Amino acid sequence: MNTEKTRCLIIGSGPAGYTAAIYTSRANLSPVLYEGIQPGGQLTTTSEIENFPGYPQGISGTEMMEDLKKQALRFGADIRNGIVTAVDLSKAPYKITLDSGNIIETETLIIATGASAKYLGLPDEAKYAGMGVSACATCDGFFYRKKVVAVVGGGDTACEEAVYLAGLASKVYLIVRKPFLRASQIMQDRVLNDPKIEVLFEHNTLGLFGDNGVEGAFLVKRKGEPDEEKVTIAIDGFFLAIGHHPNSGVFKGWLELDPQGYIKVMPGTPKTNIPGVFAAGDVADPNYRQAITAAGTGCMAAIEVERYLSSICK
Ligand code: NDP
Repeated sequence: MNTEKTRCLIIGSGPAGYTAAIYTSRANLSPVLYEGIQPGGQLTTTSEIENFPGYPQGISGTEMMEDLKKQALRFGADIRNGIVTAVDLSKAPYKITLDSGNIIETETLIIATGASAKYLGLPDEAKYAGMGVSACATCDGFFYRKKVVAVVGGGDTACEEAVYLAGLASKVYLIVRKPFLRASQIMQDRVLNDPKIEVLFEHNTLGLFGDNGVEGAFLVKRKGEPDEEKVTIAIDGFFLAIGHHPNSGVFKGWLELDPQGYIKVMPGTPKTNIPGVFAAGDVADPNYRQAITAAGTGCMAAIEVERYLSSICK
């Protein structure tokens, strides 16, 4: 077991983590970045990114993350494989334990561990990943122009995604397990008044089918009731919108989290309740969850690290 000291440790390798690494390495802070469980983050599961400014022809998620990584390496960021298994944020330097057993003592910490979309847990979700199954309508909706899609969920995200997709697709099924929507009234009204959206209340998904990608879904209506009914729908795309869970578990007990587990930051800043510890990207953002907003908060966290380090060196 080794103990190493650093001035700036970044956890996570999505747009927030890499942007923080680019800024802190250019500022000569010699950051160390641990890539985490999914190097490159959620975007590596997206086929094409067309809404990140600067790529007029679009770019694949994997390629964009490789470019961000190269940019951070160019300025000397020390990027490593590894997962954080425990933290001790009781006092600076903060102690971060890795899966290798090694410990890093760091003056500042940027947490950019992201969030993960929730899935139903059906084997077919994995089978058709990138072939018709998506958890991000804003990312992938464009590929379903004039096609038929289904969205699962009854909250604000599901309604927002259904309305967004209705602007592109020829028809949208909204698959809702309860007999009502949980979304805000305004989103419910938009969904219920959109002629392209058909809400399937009290439906659950059993599986997907198709030879070259998703061609349809097997559903069950009023599961377990005497009038239970099997339903099959023909669809080209299947979108999950049943919530996200922020990857903040290891910080529980140290940082203030909201009821969903998102790290609480001082509004308009990446500052957490602990000085020198900053949170950027989706782990602190239940609202926007976009690559560009994550990159923006990664930049903000890096600038705050610089300010913090110069304030304690005075
Ligand atoms: P929510 O937790 O609000 O809703 C999740 C939805 O998915 C619920 O309808 C839930 O059903 C359903 N669901 C969960 N698990 C399953 C499952 N296994 N099978 C089928 N359905 C399932 O998550 P959201 O992402 O929609 O919203 C998160 C927060 O962000 C909310 O506070 C929301 O208001 C907010 N938000 C605000 C927006 C805005 O203001 N513009 C936009 C998007 C989100 P059930 O109801 O039966 O539990």
